[in-house]
Amino acid sequence: MKYILVSGGVISGIGKGIFASSLGVLLKTIGLKVTAIKIDPYMNIDAGTMSPIEHGEVFVLNDGGEVDLDLGNYERFLDVTLTRDNNITTGKIYQQVIQKERKGEYLGKTVQVVPHITDAIQEWIERVAMVSVDHSGEKPDVCIIELGGTVGDIESAPFVEAMRQFQFRVGHANFALAHVSLVPVIGPVGEQKTKPTQTTIRELRALGLSPDLIACRCYKALEPEVRAKISMFCHVGKEQVISVRDVLSTYHVPLLLKEQGVLSFFQKRLGLDTIHISADQLIKSESILKKWTKLTEDHDRLKKSVTIVLVGKYTNLQDSYLSVIKALEHSGLKCERKLTLMWVEASELEHEFEKVNPDKYREAWNVLSSANGILVPGGFGNRGTEGKVAAAKWAREKKVPYLGICLGLQVAVIEFARNVCGLSDANSEEFEPHSKHKIVINMPEVSLTHLGGTMRLGMRSTIFKDDTEKWSITRKLYEVTGFMAVGKQSIEERHRHRYEVNPTYISKLEEKGMHFVGRDEKGERMEIMELKDHPFFVGTQYHPEYLSRPLNPSPPFLGFVMASAGLSLDTIFHE
Ligand code: GLN
Repeated sequence: MKYILVSGGVISGIGKGIFASSLGVLLKTIGLKVTAIKIDPYMNIDAGTMSPIEHGEVFVLNDGGEVDLDLGNYERFLDVTLTRDNNITTGKIYQQVIQKERKGEYLGKTVQVVPHITDAIQEWIERVAMVSVDHSGEKPDVCIIELGGTVGDIESAPFVEAMRQFQFRVGHANFALAHVSLVPVIGPVGEQKTKPTQTTIRELRALGLSPDLIACRCYKALEPEVRAKISMFCHVGKEQVISVRDVLSTYHVPLLLKEQGVLSFFQKRLGLDTIHISADQLIKSESILKKWTKLTEDHDRLKKSVTIVLVGKYTNLQDSYLSVIKALEHSGLKCERKLTLMWVEASELEHEFEKVNPDKYREAWNVLSSANGILVPGGFGNRGTEGKVAAAKWAREKKVPYLGICLGLQVAVIEFARNVCGLSDANSEEFEPHSKHKIVINMPEVSLTHLGGTMRLGMRSTIFKDDTEKWSITRKLYEVTGFMAVGKQSIEERHRHRYEVNPTYISKLEEKGMHFVGRDEKGERMEIMELKDHPFFVGTQYHPEYLSRPLNPSPPFLGFVMASAGLSLDTIFHE
């Protein structure tokens, strides 16, 4: 097993995750099987209880793990399926060590950060790196370990120390380090400054780690003399300093790295050519680079655009809805449409808000009414829900394509119950526990006292109803995209919710034209909702965005973008 550690310096949020996943793509182009581990040095056990405002979206895995959004980047870029153990946090490591201590497994020893925490980290990495991440069932060849935060932080110190020990544990030939740094541009002539990089590398070395590669983030390419200076002051060869400039899309990054010899560098440094690659694996890998190149070209060539309005709660932070945006982007590419994403803060669509700030209220409605398609993503808590209900009403009545995800499905059902079925006080138990018509109710099996990891989480089946074959657009989309195998009637998608549509109201809703075309195995839990006499009005209780891939967009998203762009299935799947 070969390990590549990706650490970061100067500031966080400069694209370490994209660099690491792009590196993974390059390794896959030569037939290697690649896995990834993300280390988050915070104390939380997982990202499940963290606010999307502070930390970006919570990404959900097949096994129900609620993890850092970088795992989403890895799954999308590397086309792999990861587990909750691929995300290590300080909380998880401490929990494990403390449990062991309580069981008396340390045999009377004093339990300490070094060696017990650092050992636990190394053992965890070695164990998880071996787990197969694709259908082959074979263990990966290379594991990329991304260390979150910046080197030198107090909270990442045990992980840095663990990695220092790890390089000797697995041997120099099996361990390499890439450090991502920032090169700011300062002054009227736009000088690229190397001092922050020098400082972070000095800090790294002081902690016992030497970089094999320094990846410099800068909005423009590094000047040759800047590269030479970094090489000189950071004690590495010039070929070990690479420049990661801003590019049009993240899809360009693997190619940008390849151009600068990053792949051949690691091939030599880690002796990757000696790894046996099966004929099957080699065939599969051959097309990866071609596909990736085509993806970037297609992306850059897009001219026509489609305007999607996202009605959400954290609309000032793109990261809060990262997978949703990616899934829209993937679908845009397939429909040959550039994605114009507009944001509406849900609460600004509410009548109450009109009294507070009529101008902003009008502006929010102007944006909503300019949409080719309206998307209401997942969410929690009361704030903004009435605005989302209003957005669903607008989409239904004005026949604007609508995609509701999780909460987005729930608000669409509430709106329909109120305005079509005449249940004027219909609501969700989450927002109005005493409403007469609880259209959305708490699921019996979830915990009411604990928030962490207690929802209906992860991969579950949805079965399409028998009579939907002829007319359900969602079913058709799952079929044509290959997400549902030929002859099958069920799909698997990832969930994260605590509430569900109340089964006692289903016949009433269906009578009026809201169809629940997909349900769980028992037929009691509503998974997919569709309106028939509408260009596209679909809601899913699950989160289809998590399984979307650049070259294989999620079916509900594809259908939504397609309808928003005024395209039909035949025009897209003409081949
Ligand atoms: N708050 C809703 C629930 O718990 C929706 C959750 C979501 O959108 N992920 O069911």
